[in-house]
Amino acid sequence: MIFYSTKTASIKATAEEAIFNSLPADNGLYMPESIPTLSSDFIANIETKTFNEIAIEITHTLFGDEITRSEIETIINTAYDFDAPILQINEQDYVLELFHGPSMAFKDFGARFMAAIMSYYLVRSKKEIKILVATSGDTGGAVAQGFYKIPGISVTILYPSGKVSDIQEKQLTTLGHNVTAIEVDGTFDDCQKLVKEAFLDPELNAKFNLASANSINIARLIPQSFYYFSAYAQLKRLGKPIVFAIPSGNFGNLSAGLLAYRMGLPVEHFVAATNLNNAVPRYLESGTYEPLPSIETISNAMDVGNPSNFVRLKRFFADDWELATEKVSGFYFDNEQTRNAMREVFKKSGYVMCPHTAVAFQGLEEYRKQNASGFTGVFLSTAHPAKFIELVEETLEKQIEIPERLGSLLSIEKVATQMNASFSNFKTLLMNTLN
Ligand SMILES: *Cc1c(COP(=O)(O)O)cnc(C)c1O
Repeated sequence: MIFYSTKTASIKATAEEAIFNSLPADNGLYMPESIPTLSSDFIANIETKTFNEIAIEITHTLFGDEITRSEIETIINTAYDFDAPILQINEQDYVLELFHGPSMAFKDFGARFMAAIMSYYLVRSKKEIKILVATSGDTGGAVAQGFYKIPGISVTILYPSGKVSDIQEKQLTTLGHNVTAIEVDGTFDDCQKLVKEAFLDPELNAKFNLASANSINIARLIPQSFYYFSAYAQLKRLGKPIVFAIPSGNFGNLSAGLLAYRMGLPVEHFVAATNLNNAVPRYLESGTYEPLPSIETISNAMDVGNPSNFVRLKRFFADDWELATEKVSGFYFDNEQTRNAMREVFKKSGYVMCPHTAVAFQGLEEYRKQNASGFTGVFLSTAHPAKFIELVEETLEKQIEIPERLGSLLSIEKVATQMNASFSNFKTLLMNTLN
C-alpha cells in the first residue's frame, strides 16, 4: 500500500512509514495512492461474517502481500474483543453503537488497531517507540487503553488541568505500567504546543524514537472503515439503500466512511452533522471553505473550527465540490437543538444518547425531511452517554446508570505528574523519565 502527500503528490510513503511518521514532511496528509475494492463475492455474503472477519478482509485487501493474512488475523484479533452493534430506534432509523471498547468512545476502534499494527512492525524491526500525545478528553483515554502494556511502546499523555471530566481524567491517570500522564497547568493548546516542540527538538529525537498517535494517522483512519461495512452486514436483509449520519469534529470518522464507500460499500448518502463549528456544512452549501476559531458547545469532542481531515474529505472527490455534494450533505445544530433531540429520542423510545450522537440523529432527521424516504437511516453513536453524565442527566431530568467499566475508575487514585506549560520542564522530565 503506497501513500502520497496531499500537498506534494511526488512525496510517497510505505504503510509502515506513513504509520510511524503520521504526517509527511511537507505537512500534508497521507492518502492511499489507489484504493482497492473488496471482492463482490465477499460483499454478497457479508451478512454471514463477524466484525473481526470483516476487519480482516478489509485490512488484507488494503495491505495486499505486505503483511501475511495470518499476521493480519493476529493484529485484528488482538485489537478487537468488542464490536459495533446496531439497534433499531424508530421505524426507519438505527443507531450504530461505537462505544463498546475499553474507553467507551469510538476512538477505541482507531487506537486499538494502531497499537496492534505498530506493535507488529516494532517486533519485526526490533525497535522501541515513545508516543507523545496531547488530549482534550476522549483521545487520551482511547490511546492510553489502546497502548496499555503493549511491548516496545511507552505512552506519555499531556492533558490540561481541570479541563477534562472526572471520568476522562481517571481513564488517563489510573493505568500505570507504560502509560504516564502529565497534568499541565494550561490549556489543550499549550499541551499540543509542548508535544509539537518535543518533535522538533534535536536532543530528544537523538535520544528517543518519538512517535505521535495523532488523529490524522492513517492507522487510525483505516480501522474506522470496518464498522461501516459491519453496519451494512447487519442491515442488508432489509434490502434498502443506507444513509449514514456522522457526528463530526475533525472529520476522521466521515473520511473513513468515504474510504469504505470507495472500497465498494453500497452507501446511498452521507450526512455530515456538526455543532456550531460548521465550516464543513457551510462548505457543502456554498463551495467556499472558511475555517473559524472553535466555539465551545455541549458536544465538545466536536468543537473544531478547522477540521484536520477536510483536505482528505475533498480529495476523496478529486477536489470537486459538486461531486462531494452529490454524496454528502451537511447540517449543523446549536446546543438547544441538540438537547431537544436527546429529549425527543428518550421520550419516544427510551434510548439515552450522548450529545454528539444527538447531533447525528438530528442530521439524519433533517435529511429525511428534505429527501424522498425509502432508505434506512443509520446514525453513529460515538460515545456512551455516561461519559457526559452531568449534561445528560440535566437534559433528560433523569439519573442514568454508569457502566461498571467507567464507574470502577472513580474510586481509583489518580497518578499524574503536575507541570507548568514550559518546554524546558517538559524536556527535562522526558529526559529523566523515558528510558
Ligand atoms: C472525536 C469525537 C467525535 C468527532 O470525530 P471526528 O472523527 O473528529 O469527526 C465525535 N464524537 C465523539 C464522542 C468524539 O470523541
